[in-house]
Amino acid sequence: MDTKIQETYDTVVRRNPGEAEFHQSVKEVFESLSPVLERNPQYVDAAVLERICEPERQIIFRVPWMDDNNNVQINRGFRVEFSSVLGPYKGGLRFHPSVYLGIIKFLGFEQIFKNSLTGMPIGGGKGGSDFDPRGRSEGEIMRFCQSFMTELYRHLGEYTDVPAGDIGVGGREIGFLFGQYKRITNRYESGVLTGKGITWGGSLVRTEATGYGTVMFTQEMLKAKGESLDGRKVIVSGSGNVAIYATEKATQLGATVIACSDSSGYVVDEDGLDLELMKQIKEVERARVSEYAARRGGRARFAESGSIWDVPCDIALPCATQNELNADHARTLIKNGVVAVSEGANMPCTPEAVALLQDAGIAFAPGKAANAGGVATSALEMQQNASRDSWDFEYTEERLQDIMVGIHQNCAETAEEYGAPGNYVLGANIAGFTKVADAVIALGVI
Ligand code: GLU
Repeated sequence: MDTKIQETYDTVVRRNPGEAEFHQSVKEVFESLSPVLERNPQYVDAAVLERICEPERQIIFRVPWMDDNNNVQINRGFRVEFSSVLGPYKGGLRFHPSVYLGIIKFLGFEQIFKNSLTGMPIGGGKGGSDFDPRGRSEGEIMRFCQSFMTELYRHLGEYTDVPAGDIGVGGREIGFLFGQYKRITNRYESGVLTGKGITWGGSLVRTEATGYGTVMFTQEMLKAKGESLDGRKVIVSGSGNVAIYATEKATQLGATVIACSDSSGYVVDEDGLDLELMKQIKEVERARVSEYAARRGGRARFAESGSIWDVPCDIALPCATQNELNADHARTLIKNGVVAVSEGANMPCTPEAVALLQDAGIAFAPGKAANAGGVATSALEMQQNASRDSWDFEYTEERLQDIMVGIHQNCAETAEEYGAPGNYVLGANIAGFTKVADAVIALGVI
C-alpha cells in the first residue's frame, strides 16, 4: 500500500476501534488501489478514499419486543447508510446473533462497490440486528420485525434507502417488515423493500438470483479459460438461499453438487444433492442438514466435525458467511485439484486464503462481483415497481445473465488494463471503485 492509502487505512482503524471485519474489507479494497491513485491524482486531491470510508449516516436503535412467554426482549438494530452517490442506499438486513456495528459496516462497504459493479443506479447500505431467529416462533419473528420497522421506517423510502434480505431475513421477514411500513406510512410504496413475494410487488428470479448469479459468473470465468461447469464436481458451503440456488444452477449447467453444510456440520452425497429434499428440509421445515442425510438412507453421509473443504472437488462455492474458508482450507482445496473458487457469500475467504488460491493460479471470483446477482435483481425489482409492471421468469433471468456477463467482462478487462490479467479481485475493486470515485467528485463536497 502506498503512504496515502496506508494513512487513510490507519485512520479507519483508529476511528472504528474493534471492528475487525470492517478493517478487513477496507484493506482488501485498498490493496488494489495504488495504481488507480497513480493514474488519477484527482482522487487524492479530492480526498475520495477518506470520504468513501466514512458512512454518510449510521443509525443504531433499540428494538423492544415481547416473546411468547410475555417476557420483554431487547435487541439492537442497525442501518449503516454508507454511500448514496450512485443511487438510494441499497443492501440487505441481517438478523444473526453475531451482528454488531463492525459486521454491518463491512457489509455496507462491500455493498458500495458491488452495487457499482452491477451497473444499476443504487448506492450502498446494510442493516440488521443481533436478534437470533433460530428457535423463535412465527409470532415472535413477526413482533420483532414490526418493532424493528417501527423505528427504521423513518429512514427508508424508495428514493432514500431500500433494504432487502440477508442471513436470517427471507421472504417471510420482508413480508412482516413491508406490512408494518405500509401500516405506519399509509402508503403502498412497493419500491421501499426488495425480496417481496410475487403477489405483492416482488420479482420473479429474485429468490434464485444470488446463487444463480454466482454460478453464471463462475461459468464465465471458466469459459475465459476454455473450460466449463459441465461434468464438474462442485461443493457449496451453507444451505440457505444462496447455497440452494447455486446448487440448482450448477446442476442445470451439468455439474454435480456433492456437498453442502450448516452450522451443525456438512453432508456429502456423491450422487449429487437431491435439491427438492434439501429445499423441503431447509426452506419448509427449517431443519438441519443432518436431517437430509437421515432421509437419504445411507446414500449420503453427515459429518459433525472436520471441514466441508476437506471433500475433494473441482469447484468450491463458499456460500455461508464471512471468513469461513481459511488458509488451511485453501491449501487442502489446492492439493485436491480445485480449479475455481467463487464467493457466493460476502467475504467468505480470508485474505490469506485468497492469496494462496491466486498464487496457485486458481480462478478466484470475489463476492462483490460473483454474488452481485442478488442485489442486481433487487434493482430489477425496483424497476418493475416503478413502472407498475411484472416481468416473466425467462426475461428476468436473461437480464440477470446479461448483468453477470457484463460484470465478468468489466472485471476481466479492468484487470487486463491494469496489467494483471485474470486477477478478478483487482478488476472488481478497481472497476467498482472508479465509478463511485468519479461520482463522489462530480457531486462536490457533500
Ligand atoms: N444481501 C444481499 C447482498 O449481500 C442482497 C442485497 C439487496 O438485494 O439489496 O448483496
